[in-house]
Amino acid sequence: MKYEPAPDLLKDRVILVTGAGDGIGRTAAKSYARHGATVILLGRTVSKLESLYDEIVESGGPEPGIAPMDLVQTSAAPMLELADVINDRYGRLDGLLHNAAILGKLMPFETYDPNEWMQVMQVNLNSVFLLTRVMIATLRKSPDARIIFTSSGVGAKPRAYWGAYSVSKYAMEGLAKLLALEMANTSSIRVNILNPGGTRTRMRAAAFPQEDPLTLKTPAELMPLYLYLMGPDSKGEQGKTFNPDWLAG
Ligand code: NAP
Repeated sequence: MKYEPAPDLLKDRVILVTGAGDGIGRTAAKSYARHGATVILLGRTVSKLESLYDEIVESGGPEPGIAPMDLVQTSAAPMLELADVINDRYGRLDGLLHNAAILGKLMPFETYDPNEWMQVMQVNLNSVFLLTRVMIATLRKSPDARIIFTSSGVGAKPRAYWGAYSVSKYAMEGLAKLLALEMANTSSIRVNILNPGGTRTRMRAAAFPQEDPLTLKTPAELMPLYLYLMGPDSKGEQGKTFNPDWLAG
């Protein structure tokens, strides 16, 4: 689908982006701000969030919020504090992009390191559950909220040696579909899954070091889909999985 987002598509919307400091999350946060959203930048490396904050402000976007959080350690308490801050400052949350993830080390299942397993599950699945659970009440205050869960091809078809990353994305897709069912008739929250496919980022380079990054699409090329699923035009979408084919279709 050739989608051309209105310049003010996300005007007055408040959107929380996890893993906003780098890669696809950074580009999505900038793109959301460029289309009028107040973005709350959640990530673990404060310097990256600060430089993104500066970029957004210098380009004339609404002043973002910064939420430093290391999702590998985080329990519900700091997330509840963040929800309180969002409620006090904005009165609602209109969008949540679950983007942060780690690949973990690729290794055979038989020798998969249990600590690695726990860390990947913590960032890619448990923190996603916790943050969603904590933010639902604030999302319900929006008249038209969106949650996007970022998956991967290996969340629908496993790839040997991808261990916890693949399993975490399978489970996250299950979480998203379950939540979509529960939200469908009880709220105006739309819940969908986005698989960006191979994209030129640091994670992709770690997974495929032999690959020429210039052969891959950039995060910017994905933005029409990220905007569509975060904005009012996707009101009719619920519990679906999107990938870049949508952009070509
Ligand atoms: P990336 O370049 O590695 O960026 C990941 C972001 O998540 C970074 O900002 C990183 O923060 C943040 N993050 C990682 N661990 C965190 C933690 N413990 N707490 C808080 N933030 C944390 O990855 P990407 O390629 O943009 O991937 C974005 C999403 O797309 C992920 O969900 C990934 O699974 C999915 N995906 C990507 C591809 C691809 O080809 N790139 C393909 C399929 C799916 P720091 O910058 O501070 O490290």
